[in-house]
Amino acid sequence: MRDELPTTATERDPEGLGEADGSASDGALDPAGPTGAAEAGSLAEGDEAAEPAEAAPVRAAGDERRAVVLRPPSFGAVEARGLIKFYGTTAALRGCDLVVLRGERVALLGANGAGKTTLLKILATLVRPSGGHLTLLGHDAMRQAATVRRQLGVVAHETYLYRDLSATENLRLYGRLYGVADLETRIASELQRVGLAELAERRVGALSRGQQQRLALARALLHEPALLLLDEPDTGLDEAGQALLARVVRDAAPTVVLTTHSIERALALADRLVVLAAGKVAYEAPTTGVEAGRVREALGAAP
Ligand code: ATP
Repeated sequence: MRDELPTTATERDPEGLGEADGSASDGALDPAGPTGAAEAGSLAEGDEAAEPAEAAPVRAAGDERRAVVLRPPSFGAVEARGLIKFYGTTAALRGCDLVVLRGERVALLGANGAGKTTLLKILATLVRPSGGHLTLLGHDAMRQAATVRRQLGVVAHETYLYRDLSATENLRLYGRLYGVADLETRIASELQRVGLAELAERRVGALSRGQQQRLALARALLHEPALLLLDEPDTGLDEAGQALLARVVRDAAPTVVLTTHSIERALALADRLVVLAAGKVAYEAPTTGVEAGRVREALGAAP
C-alpha cells in the first residue's frame, strides 16, 4: 500500500447548500485540514482527491428560483459501477462493482494488492477513480464529494492524527471543522466508547499503536457518520480492542464497509463478504451462506 491520503476532508459547506441542483460548492480536500498538511505531500502524481470544478448554475437575470432536478430514488449507501483505477500504468481496479444497502455491513477481503484499499479510498472520496460511476448515500460522489464527506467516517491505514496534540485536542480540531454540535460532550462520549477516557489529555505521540487506532475510530465516529469506512481497522487492537471494534461495527453507524485479511473477522463483523481479486469482485455472499472453498479460491489461497 502506498501514498496514503488524508482520512478526512475539511468541510466548507455545512449548510449543504446547492445540493438539490448540483450546485454545491464542494471544496477540494484541504491539506491543512484535520488530517494534516504533511500527508498531502505524499500524494502520488495523478492520485489527488481534488474535485472537478463544478459549473456555476445558470440563471436568467432576476430569476431567483432554484432549478429542481429530480434524482432517481436510491436505496443503496454505496452504488459503485465499473470502477477503474490506474496508478500510472498499474491497474488497481479493473471494473469493480459494489452495491451496499443502507444498514448493511460489508467486509472486503482479498490478497495483497487485490485493490481493497484503493476501493476504500475511492469510497472515502480520497482518490478519484479513472473510470466508472459512484453514488454514495444518494449523491454523485464525484460531483458532490463535500456533501458526501460530511456523512462519512473514515479510518484509513495510517491514523493521520496530530502527534503533538492530545487525544482531546485532535478530536476538538476535527469536530470544529465538521461543525459537531455539543462538541465537548461528544468528545467525552467517544473517548469513553473507545476506552481512552483516562488518556484524553495524553499527547498522541505518547499513545501506543493500538491506542492511536482507537482514537482514529473515535475521530471517525465523532460526527455520527451515516457510512463508516474502515481499512483494516483491527490493526494493532488487542482482544478488548477487537471486541470494541465489533461493537462499533454493530452499533455505531448504520452502514459499514471494512477491509480485513481475516476471514474469521469478516464473518464475525459483517453481513456480507466480498472478495476482490485483481481489482474486481471475485466472490460475494452473505456471511451466513459463505462457501469457504470459493473464498479460498477467490483469495488465491491453497484449497
Ligand atoms: P493490501 O492487502 O496489501 O493492503 P490492497 O488489496 O489494499 O492490498 P491496494 O493497496 O489497493 O491493494 O493496491 C492495489 C494495486 O495498486 C497494487 O498493485 C498496488 O501496488 C497498486 N497501488 C496502490 N497504491 C498505489 C499508488 N499510490 N501508486 C502506484 N500503485 C499503487
